[in-house]
Amino acid sequence: MRALSDRERERYTRQLVLPSWGEEAQLRLKAATVFVAGAGGLGSAVVLYLAAAGVGCIRVCDRDTVELSNLNRQILHAERGMGMRKALSAQKAVTRLNSEVRVVPLVAEMTGQNVGELAAGADILLDCLDNVPSRLVLNGLSVSVRLPLVHAGVRGLGGQLSFLRPPATACLACFMQDASVEEPAALQSGPPPILGAVAGAMGCLQALEALKFLTGIGERSENRIVFLDGETMKFEEVEISKNPDCPVCGR
Ligand SMILES: [Zn+2]
Repeated sequence: MRALSDRERERYTRQLVLPSWGEEAQLRLKAATVFVAGAGGLGSAVVLYLAAAGVGCIRVCDRDTVELSNLNRQILHAERGMGMRKALSAQKAVTRLNSEVRVVPLVAEMTGQNVGELAAGADILLDCLDNVPSRLVLNGLSVSVRLPLVHAGVRGLGGQLSFLRPPATACLACFMQDASVEEPAALQSGPPPILGAVAGAMGCLQALEALKFLTGIGERSENRIVFLDGETMKFEEVEISKNPDCPVCGR
């Protein structure tokens, strides 16, 4: 692997001096490809922090366009990007932040048929989605090709996070089914409540988990789900284990 340039050493000075980071870890990041599913509230923090840290290639998948009502939380996007595809808006934002990072914008609806191609070459998958069916599509890829998946979800002032590495750990479907409580959208009128700072906090934690995995430092939130209650600023965690009857990773 080649060495960092002087410019890179300067840009990443403050993380290069982290214990157990150093130039090797930085080069690992530079060589890495991540797949970010969803360029919304979670994806905004994920993409920006992974780009700032120097991840070499970020594949951003989102088929939606930027709307005014996104801007309370989706800080990748701005007023002048309204009407633009979110994946392209993300690419623009990253170019402004760190021109060394390559963003591959993917304007597509993720399906079981195309997800492998969309995530081609990825070292890790980031679940920044807002609906269970799409999450399960991403999870299916994680299980079938054994790619780690960093899951997060937010609602109101609360959020959850877990680092899944099937078959060593549970997969998403071990504890999340199609009829999950996450989105009783059909039962409620109006959009689900969400505050940008909560989505940002959870997205930052996802980025942190991905960075630790890619550089090989620290300990991840494996075999547990971490919950943030933003209203009381309390973190809780619940242990999870593989579900032997899981329809995706079970026997
Ligand atoms: Zn499972």
